[in-house]
This record gives sequence, C-alpha cells and structure tokens, in this order.
Amino acid sequence: MASKRDYYEILGVSRDATQEEIKKAYRRLAREFHPDVNKDDPQAEEKFKEINEAYEVLSDPEKRAAYDRFGHAATDPGYATGAEGFDFGGFEGFGDLFEMFFGGGTARRRSSGPQRGGDLRYDLEISFEEAAFGLEKTIEVPRTEACAACRGTGAKGGTAVHTCPACRGSGQVRFAQTTLFGQFVNVRTCDRCRGEGKVIETPCPECQGRGRVKRTRKINVKIPPGVDNGFRVRVPGEGEAGLRGGPPGDLYVYLYVKPHRSFKREGDDIHSEVEISFAQAALGTALAIETLDGPVELKIPEGTQTGTVFRLRGHGVPHLRGSGRGDHLVSVVVRTPTRLTPEQRELFRRLAELEEAQGKGFIGRVKEAFGK
Ligand SMILES: [Zn+2]
Ligand SMILES: [Zn+2]
Repeated sequence: MASKRDYYEILGVSRDATQEEIKKAYRRLAREFHPDVNKDDPQAEEKFKEINEAYEVLSDPEKRAAYDRFGHAATDPGYATGAEGFDFGGFEGFGDLFEMFFGGGTARRRSSGPQRGGDLRYDLEISFEEAAFGLEKTIEVPRTEACAACRGTGAKGGTAVHTCPACRGSGQVRFAQTTLFGQFVNVRTCDRCRGEGKVIETPCPECQGRGRVKRTRKINVKIPPGVDNGFRVRVPGEGEAGLRGGPPGDLYVYLYVKPHRSFKREGDDIHSEVEISFAQAALGTALAIETLDGPVELKIPEGTQTGTVFRLRGHGVPHLRGSGRGDHLVSVVVRTPTRLTPEQRELFRRLAELEEAQGKGFIGRVKEAFGK
C-alpha cells in the first residue's frame, strides 16, 4: 500500500480542488484512458482503474475527508469507521461508467429492486368499417403473470421467504480485489439468491418458485372510432407481470386495417367511384351511393363530365380526436356503351342525325359530357 500514488496526484488536481474540478479532471482522464478506446495499450486499463479509485474516494466528501486525515489507510477495508467499516457503495464496474460517458444516462438499476414488467405487442386485423366506427374486441394474449398460488412470492403457501443471508437482501455482493495497484471493490450479482435478495424455503409448486406463470388471458380492448392502419392502442397494465412487486408492463395492440372492396381512405375522407351511362350524364339523374352509413342519395346534374367529383359531407370517417367526420367523395365515370341493342343503335343514330342538323346543339353538349 505504501507504493500507492496520491489520489490528488492521480487526478492532477490540488488538495483544495472543488468537487466540480475533481469531476472535470476525472471525466477527462477517464475518457482518455478508457479501456475501450485504448485496446492496444495494456497499461491504460490499470491507469483507468487507478483513476476510478481516486475518483471514487475524492468525489465522496466523507471518504475524501477520511482520506485527507488518514491517507490510503482510510480506503483499506480493514479500516473501520464505525461498525460497518468503509462503504464503497456505488461503483459498479466499467459498464456503468461507460454508460455515464457515452450515453445511456447515469440511472443505475438495482437488480434487487422492483422491476416493471415488459410491454407486449399484439397484432390485430380489423375491417375498414371497424376502423371507422371503433370496436370492442376480446383478444387472447399469452403472457407471464404473478403466480396466484403464492401471490408472486415464489414460496409455497404460507412458507417463509427469508432475506438472503449472503447479500443481506441487496441482491449484490461487494468484494474487494487486491491488485498491484491497490484494492478495488467490485460488485456482482449474488449467487445465492440470483440477485433476488430473497431466498425461499419451499418453492411454490405452481411456479417452481419463480413467482410468475405463463397464462393466456382474454383481454377486452376498446378501439376508438377513426383509427387507421398502423395505429396502436395502449392497454395499460396488461403486459408482462413485474418483478419483485414492480408494476406490470403495458399491452400495445397494433392495428392492421383490411382494405375495402370499393372505398379508399385518405385521412378521414373516403373515395369511391360510380359509373353512369351516357344518358344519365347528359340528362342528369339521382343515384344511391354506398357509404359507411348505407345508401345516400346523390343528385347528378345534367351535363356531368366523366371524372367529376361530388362530395357527400359528413359521410367519411369520424375524426379520431375531436368531433365531426370526414367526407365521402364520389368520382363519376361515364360508361361508354360497348354493345348496343338495335333499338339503342337506332336512338344513337337519330341523335347523330340531330347533331348533323343542329351543329353544336344538344348533341354537342352530349359530346362534351363524354369528354370527346
Ligand atoms: Zn407460485
Ligand atoms: Zn443474495
């Protein structure tokens, strides 16, 4: 231990450096000597450990004060400051530090604490109309749940669950490692309880002590009106069970909307086509148009061109947020007859004669209507 370098010297700061200065120096050095960026330099890792050890002590006002008074002796686990000795809480190895520097945040997940259950995804195919008007559907979702027999404890009914004696319930074991460069305290998951912090005397036979079981659950899902392909509906709390009393995850229902045989959706508007004859286009007519609400009357005025679009207000898809609905847009296609009966042929011939006689009279308008 006598050969150990001074912590202030390692970080290159003065003995009266502020916490901010210490932090800055540490971050700079840790980046420079991080083993992941110095793969070819075997000394970098040792240097990195040294930097971390120095920071571990100097960044903690209590440890720093002890170090200032007693030097390296203060960091020796044999050195007692009260009953518990020196507590090296916090440092969890390189992975953690790496996250701290290169993203991922400094949030540390204690493996023994409550953990939220995972989210689940369920793909649901619905019809065009169901997407428009919403639906309630019962789906079957396989998931893990807290075991009912042991209420998630993993212990057979009424038997004891003890706090793990090896880790005293923390789920982690700290151990000191002595290297040429001094002592390090490392943390690993407790073998005895596998990080659970608890040991079970008699495991629950239903879940083999896991506290969780696989179940297929019927879940009622409410899908609001106005959803579209690719939307997802969140069902809170219906995902996987949490661990150690943690809350369950959520269930996400992803929606796939089957295409409609004649409607096309654009936002909340619906488009469809309707065929009319020469005579209907020329003379005008009234049609029953199929919409989401059933047949709706559409008046086609005389002289309507092919490709004309009519708007049936409020017959589209309900807006998902807020009130109101989109429109139903009908494009008119004028159908040119391909097979004429002798009688029809006669009538068209008469029409053609009239056109000859009247120039751009009625027939001219008919012709315009046909887009010719
Ligand atoms: Zn159980
Ligand atoms: Zn343990």
